[in-house]
Amino acid sequence: MKFSKSDRINLALENMGIDSIDALIHHLPRTYNDFTLTKETQLANKERVVIYGRLVSNPTFVKKGKLTIIRFSFITMNNNFFNIVIFNRPYLYRSLNLSDYYTIVGHYDNSNRTINVQTIVKGQIPSDEMIKPVYSLPSEIENYQFMNMVRKYLFNEQISIPDIVPFSLMQKYHLISHLDALKHIHAPKNFGDVHAGLRVLKYEECLLFTLQTQIIRKENKALQKSNKQMIDTSKINDFIRSLKFKLTHDQVIAVREIILDMNNQSLMYRLLQGDVGTGKTLVAEIAMYGAVLRNDQAAIMAPTDALAHQHYENMKKLFGGNIKVGLLVGSLSSGERKEVLEKIKLHEFDIIVGTHALFSEDVKYDKLGLVVIDEQHKFGVNQRLLLASKGDNTDLLLMSATPIPRTLALTLYGDLDVSTLEEYPVDNRDIVTKVLEEDDKEVFRYVEQSLKEDKRVFVVTPYVNSLKGKNTCEDVFARFNKRFLGKVSLLHGKLSSEEKEEALNNFINGDTPILVSTTVIEVGIDVKNANLMVIYDAPSFGLASLHQIRGRIGRDGNKATCLLLYQDEEQEDIEKLRILEETLDGFKIAEKDLALRGPGDMNGLKQSGMPNFAFANIISDFKMFEIARNDATYILNNASNVEFKSIIQKAKELADMNKFRNV
Ligand code: ADP
Ligand code: MG
Repeated sequence: MKFSKSDRINLALENMGIDSIDALIHHLPRTYNDFTLTKETQLANKERVVIYGRLVSNPTFVKKGKLTIIRFSFITMNNNFFNIVIFNRPYLYRSLNLSDYYTIVGHYDNSNRTINVQTIVKGQIPSDEMIKPVYSLPSEIENYQFMNMVRKYLFNEQISIPDIVPFSLMQKYHLISHLDALKHIHAPKNFGDVHAGLRVLKYEECLLFTLQTQIIRKENKALQKSNKQMIDTSKINDFIRSLKFKLTHDQVIAVREIILDMNNQSLMYRLLQGDVGTGKTLVAEIAMYGAVLRNDQAAIMAPTDALAHQHYENMKKLFGGNIKVGLLVGSLSSGERKEVLEKIKLHEFDIIVGTHALFSEDVKYDKLGLVVIDEQHKFGVNQRLLLASKGDNTDLLLMSATPIPRTLALTLYGDLDVSTLEEYPVDNRDIVTKVLEEDDKEVFRYVEQSLKEDKRVFVVTPYVNSLKGKNTCEDVFARFNKRFLGKVSLLHGKLSSEEKEEALNNFINGDTPILVSTTVIEVGIDVKNANLMVIYDAPSFGLASLHQIRGRIGRDGNKATCLLLYQDEEQEDIEKLRILEETLDGFKIAEKDLALRGPGDMNGLKQSGMPNFAFANIISDFKMFEIARNDATYILNNASNVEFKSIIQKAKELADMNKFRNV
């Protein structure tokens, strides 16, 4: 699709994922520039102001090194006088003329009645263009170019967009049409327009989403298992009693819910959510034990080789010789792999631990009854689907470490049953978090202290490859290795699995008590005596990720320290880290994390494993989600109503695409 005569612009649009008119007109403004004039009786110091008037002095131009300054005097229509300064825009100098009229937007300093200019426009802004959309765009496309392109299509007579929301609901909530909503948003006359437009897109999105989850749930509940033996719950209880520690109350409830599901006629489709360290794995292990009790096989899929290894070792210990546990990861030699596949097929393994290698074409299970997916948000939709399709009657247990409050879970995960672990088995976790400006010397002092106490130190960086101004894990590794020679290992996704395993082993056994890595350690690695976590470029991570990462330390119940390092990032970014200093409560953090996200913040959302929304915000639009959820129920209960036909159809299509959607 060519939108512009310029190939450069077309390519840039393509890279933004804008490949249709529909995509173009749904790229909404990031914010608006408001040219509404400020009341001059209400000018506030240091605030943004908009004034209109004329130049009453010839502009002066000064250059100091790299800095350029234009100055002039200005009088508004109300005869108020201002000193105007414009920094670093030398090209404006020639276009400014004495006595000409301008609209000026800038920051006001009342000590000398100065305005520091952000935007200056010749003449008066027409009343219907007072609110100018500002778009997120790559450097190839100017804001006005994009705005004009959008308007060209939007205000074209030919365009027609069908309304998705049923007419009666549009009336009930006084919603304008989808097309009018877009016009309001891209070319508002006032902020009321923007609000009215967004309300339509958000409600539509909420309604379609909640419809989908309810449709998927109905379909799941209709799936039946056949010829299943009941799991003997007294044997489950015996097993629990034989463990070396007592389950937390939440674990007991989760186990009960899961075993009930597994003994139920319809297939289990359950999410087990809980903050890092709440002991999700043990619950999953008991569920797998249950599957084995009725002669099924169980598979658990982990996102990394390292985590799969850890689960494998733990389970061999946990189950002893009675239950045969196998490991299937990408790094096996072809001979080893063949042997493992053979044993899976012959049911010589009861439980199979692995990575995505578990669902390769050539893996055939004898009788796969339960699939557990650890850190499920790390997997794509198809991967989860494929693994579950390896058995005829597979129960599915998804595990997620981004917990959210129950009411929210009900709305977001309407298609899943949810068990939640809130209690920690070790409730004397004592992690002190500090937000610090990056300084290796200071960091090394903390590291020395840890080494003295024979503890382990995690060092995390966001990047493998170099990115302007940011630390890469190789840089940081080099700096640490210079200071703590031979005591440091490096771990990142680009290493071979042998190298990864070696790095991790050396770290765990203490040969190299410092581990520098990317977020590969975010997921699940359990090393008891790590008491220091150093995170470089912390503002690059989402809050929920940072919380997950720091969950790796203090697992022995002793005091641990997490350092969140920033360079000279935006103050705002640093402030957001403070919440981690204040609380260890994963629920609070997840909620804050979601609230901080703007709509369409896809990367962030992917990180936290939440479904992502283009328009609605899960927290601030929560009421709307709840209303939409009720409307969705009503629609499905009255599915024969012709008015609902098209939206149900649409939701079904989306549901088919998203069956094992990113929860
Ligand atoms: P996560 O929920 O983050 O996956 P894990 O399952 O890795 O947490 O559990 C964290 C640690 O707590 C593990 O070392 C595990 O053995 C231990 N653990 C789990 N349940 C209990 C319990 N009931 N009592 C004591 N320790 C437990
Ligand atoms: Mg885990």
